[in-house]
Amino acid sequence: MSDLAVSSEPKGRVWGKVALITGAAQGLGEATARMLVKEGASVVVTDINFEGVEKLASDLGGKALALKHDVTSESEWIDVIAETRKKFGQLEILVNNAGVGDFGSVEDMSLEKWQRVHDINVNSVFLGCKHALPLMRDSDRGSIINMSSIAGIIASDSYAAYNSSKAAVRHLSKSIALHCAKKGGRVRCNSVHPVFTDTPILDGFKDLLGEEQAMEKLARQIPLKQIAEPDDIAYAVLFLASDESKMITGSELLVDGGISAQ
Ligand code: NAD
Repeated sequence: MSDLAVSSEPKGRVWGKVALITGAAQGLGEATARMLVKEGASVVVTDINFEGVEKLASDLGGKALALKHDVTSESEWIDVIAETRKKFGQLEILVNNAGVGDFGSVEDMSLEKWQRVHDINVNSVFLGCKHALPLMRDSDRGSIINMSSIAGIIASDSYAAYNSSKAAVRHLSKSIALHCAKKGGRVRCNSVHPVFTDTPILDGFKDLLGEEQAMEKLARQIPLKQIAEPDDIAYAVLFLASDESKMITGSELLVDGGISAQ
């Protein structure tokens, strides 16, 4: 008889797994943490905004640990992994979600801004994977999910650093997937590519045009004619985090309302 047959409660799609989610104080990170807990995982939620993740963890109850964490800092990554090992002794899911958007063409952007965007959006992914992998390899199966963007596939004149950093996340994820497979095949790595999604990352754009006009302008560019909701992305992460996707590695999951199909 299967475990599910003897249990009156459904166990959830990631039951018993431990997930670490960066940038979890709001937006997609928060939605992902809530989704993974709902589906049976325990979570380590990290952010530079400690108050935000502390509040989230208290909402989620005993299944969550909140940590202050700047993803650009190697020493903080080492501490976060050590705390995860101490609290849970295992790590099956890493969601490298923290990221920033920044307007600017190649001529408008300062080198300092360019480097900052790459530090937060892509160097952090390198650091996270490097330091989490030894702990993830101790588990039976692991899944790294790197939050890229549709901007990592389609470029725009005014997103030089964002386009570059998110394209790098896509390709880095493939390299990590092949490395993990070569090491023994138990840890997978994929990237997720959301289209415009209604989170605070769009606040600047809303301030510029007014909320209604900004949302309409963005939705018009999407064949499905709507902005994504945070849960649309969290469901994609959930699939990649679960064993349902155990044969999927080195791939990219587009949650883009068809924008890249044109
Ligand atoms: P958001 O701005 O709502 O949340 C980002 C979170 O990351 C915040 O809580 C912030 O405090 C945290 N963060 C920023 N810098 C950090 C650092 N150095 N260390 C740790 N945490 C840091 O953004 P979001 O929309 O939830 O975006 C999450 C991810 O999804 C990002 O990587 C973003 O590029 C990507 N994305 C978002 C959209 C969208 O339209 N919302 C579309 C495509 C991709």
